[in-house]
Amino acid sequence: MGRCAGVLARRGEERIAIRAPFTILASGGIGGRYRHSTNFPHLTGDAIDIAKKHGIRLEHLDYVQIHPTTLYSRKPGRRFLISESVRGEGALLLDRHGERFVDELLPRDVVTKAILEQMEKDGTDHVWLSMEPIPREKILSHFPHICQRCLEGGYDVTREWIPVVPAQHYFMGGIWVDSESRTSMPGLYAAEDIARRTVQDTLDMAAEKIV
Ligand SMILES: Cc1cc2nc3c(=O)[nH]c(=O)nc-3n(C[C@H](O)[C@H](O)[C@H](O)COP(=O)(O)OP(=O)(O)OC[C@H]3O[C@@H](n4cnc5c(N)ncnc54)[C@H](O)[C@@H]3O)c2cc1C
Repeated sequence: MGRCAGVLARRGEERIAIRAPFTILASGGIGGRYRHSTNFPHLTGDAIDIAKKHGIRLEHLDYVQIHPTTLYSRKPGRRFLISESVRGEGALLLDRHGERFVDELLPRDVVTKAILEQMEKDGTDHVWLSMEPIPREKILSHFPHICQRCLEGGYDVTREWIPVVPAQHYFMGGIWVDSESRTSMPGLYAAEDIARRTVQDTLDMAAEKIV
């Protein structure tokens, strides 16, 4: 494998070679690849494609966390997350007939699977979340931000069910890097959401900070 010598940038039709001794890939997460995500649609994990093209080591691309409940919308843009704490306080997940179909407090992946199966069964794009079991005062005092954002979306959570859908939330895989953020290609680094550190590297870094 060769050494990274910089980037080839594009401005309109013009191609510009920018030479650099060290280059960092930092194109953010992958949410834009999903129909529903809590991340911005323009974040499509482009650095992964670049890395793949050049044979740079990738790891655990399937480590993607899906959050079971985000506010359903047909509009483009990132989805608003309806936190687990709402279900913790007693909110219920309902199918198109208003029937419960899953224990709302099961782990994220299990609840997500149940919701997706129910959507398929019902032929719908979402299921419903009802906050009816939670006293109105508690909804308003514990979840003011959720109330506000849902109102902006056209739903009063103290009076009506809201449509929710699972959405991509967090990406744990990506471009492999060591504890110095070096990729497997000399001269090339990767940082933040697009980079995937080994568990041992993360522990080593934490230990260094403690010492
Ligand atoms: C709703 C939400 C809440 C969050 N809350 C927190 C929090 O409270 N605390 C916390 O620590 N983290 C939080 N995060 C996570 C945090 O925002 C990310 O971890 C962080 O922004 C990742 O930084 P990054 O540099 O990898 O990506 P980003 O900050 O997303 O930056 C990536 C940049 O790359 C650019 N880019 C992408 N593709 C290309 C391309 N092909 N060519 C050129 N440029 C490109 C993008 O335009 C963008 O400017 C939250 C994230 C979300 C979605």
